Amino acid sequence: MIKWSIRIFGILVLVLGVLFWWLLLSGSNAARSAPGLFDLEDWRSKASAPADQLPTAIRILEVGRDIAPPFAAQAGRFGAPVAMSYNAVEIVYPDRSIIIGGAVDRPTAEGMALSDAEWQFSDAAYSELTQAMLAAEQVLMTHEHLDHVMAIARHPDPAALAPNLVLNQPQIDALPLFADGALDPALTALDSGLSGDVASIAPGLVIVPAAGHTPGSQMVFIRLQNGQEILLIGDIVWNMGAIEALKTRPVLTQYMVFRPNYEDRDAIKQQVRALHDMMADNSGLVVLPAHDRDWLVQAATGEGIEFQPAN
Ligand SMILES: [Zn+2]
Ligand SMILES: [Zn+2]
Repeated sequence: MIKWSIRIFGILVLVLGVLFWWLLLSGSNAARSAPGLFDLEDWRSKASAPADQLPTAIRILEVGRDIAPPFAAQAGRFGAPVAMSYNAVEIVYPDRSIIIGGAVDRPTAEGMALSDAEWQFSDAAYSELTQAMLAAEQVLMTHEHLDHVMAIARHPDPAALAPNLVLNQPQIDALPLFADGALDPALTALDSGLSGDVASIAPGLVIVPAAGHTPGSQMVFIRLQNGQEILLIGDIVWNMGAIEALKTRPVLTQYMVFRPNYEDRDAIKQQVRALHDMMADNSGLVVLPAHDRDWLVQAATGEGIEFQPAN
């Protein structure tokens, strides 16, 4: 009897060990190389414009914040939780602005809340964002996930917003999933304003398609008047530690968080490697993931990058 108990216990430990390995550690190493995946020189040439036409600054407009377990953000990471920011980015020109990111609204943020103590949402910041989207010349998003799309899909004035939207086709196709009820008719007949190729959409501003995290994921390369180069990478990683460690999110997050489960892990592995190597070769380039709050706060040096906290 004792022998059987020991055997069953041993099998249980083994099964739990395999599950732990598979869900939290396996299949999470970045590719060994990703030659030619991203072409910074091409982005630079497409971003070039007379200096007085370039944007002067970017403002990270935070609407909410929370914390995430480290092992869910980066495979093999344990210890302190990762501070998460929910935001959109305003690109400020001398005579206009462009907004990247639909951000998250209060009901969705409440549904996603992980920490009673750290979770915050600012109705004032969200309202400021929806207003800024109407004043903006163009409104884009990095990708079609619920924390990046709600201020578009649920905007209080969709008819006024619609002419400003510049979305790619997978992003347009996803909007009905995130509407509060039926999608407003003003948002049902949008034309894609993006070709799917690397392209400049304004002086100093280049859209770089990067399918992987979602089919419609894209990065945004920005060159400011002061020469600062910035790359918004959306959710390719949640925290910059993943790029430093050459790791992706774990399998656990892919199955529990991303529904439908359409993250292309192989594409992310290539992208993490390419971003890692690009940063190593270009120390002046500021790479900004959407959610890594500590990194975003640190990057806001006052030299053209501002972070406006939700509270
Ligand atoms: Zn996402
Ligand atoms: Zn996100």
